[in-house]
Amino acid sequence: MRVLILGGTGEARALAADLVRRPGSEVVSSLAGRVSDPALPLGEVRIGGFGGISGLSAYLADGAFDAVVDATHPFASTITANAAAAARSLSLPHLVLQRPAWAPGPGDQWTVVPDIAAAARATAAAPDGTVFVTTGKRDLGAFIADDRHLHLVRAVDPPQPPLPPKSVVLLDRGPFTVDSEAYLMRANNVVVLATKNSGGPMTSAKLDAARELRVPVVMVERPALPEGVTVVETVAAASSWLDNAAG
Ligand code: NAP
Repeated sequence: MRVLILGGTGEARALAADLVRRPGSEVVSSLAGRVSDPALPLGEVRIGGFGGISGLSAYLADGAFDAVVDATHPFASTITANAAAAARSLSLPHLVLQRPAWAPGPGDQWTVVPDIAAAARATAAAPDGTVFVTTGKRDLGAFIADDRHLHLVRAVDPPQPPLPPKSVVLLDRGPFTVDSEAYLMRANNVVVLATKNSGGPMTSAKLDAARELRVPVVMVERPALPEGVTVVETVAAASSWLDNAAG
């Protein structure tokens, strides 16, 4: 069984590690090549875009793949749409592995918004202080009209300009602890946190810290998945699905 894993997440790496140990399965992990120093999965890895739906379809057909598991980040919506379309056109078994979204709990003050532009409009209304932005390195131009707040932008790689007029960039990668997140927020007088609903434990400590400090959160919700796709939330469930697909 030859499996293509569309990766760039911890779940994709965990699934690759599971499959390379499995007799009779061959796995290729694909990365977009966006991050300067990516954590590499075990087994064969290819890096770079495929060239849209047709490029991905040709890659899957030429490589004689039996299944494709889309384990990309919940906000990587273009590759997810492309993979669904390519798999459909080839009638290839296709699975989306996507970690559960975060949900607000008691004490959380969340404003849920559809996109980063809406997040920027919401944070612009916050009292004076610092906006803590953890929405990633792209689309920070959305915050450009807000010259009242300082924006503390945390990203894994240097953010792409334009940046908000008053901004400080912090390059860091999770996992983070609740204590370190609370310290960072307190030390920087954070009055609101803007984040994407990535889900998972690696970067969730900021939400616990925000609750503890009564800092409101502007949460960008996930883009919708393509219609009709099969979705699982755990690596174990993806592994079982592949057992059935192989059977
Ligand atoms: P995207 O907007 O959905 O995809 C843009 C293009 O990048 C795709 O059309 C495809 O190019 C290429 N691409 C994306 N993922 C790929 C993969 N795994 N293998 C080969 N090509 C890929 O994706 P994105 O949001 O830029 O994310 C890029 C990668 O970073 C993904 O692998 C994702 O898992 C990871 N990541 C994303 C985020 C996030 O917040 N978006 C966070 C953490 C990690 P072609 O059309 O040329 O095939």
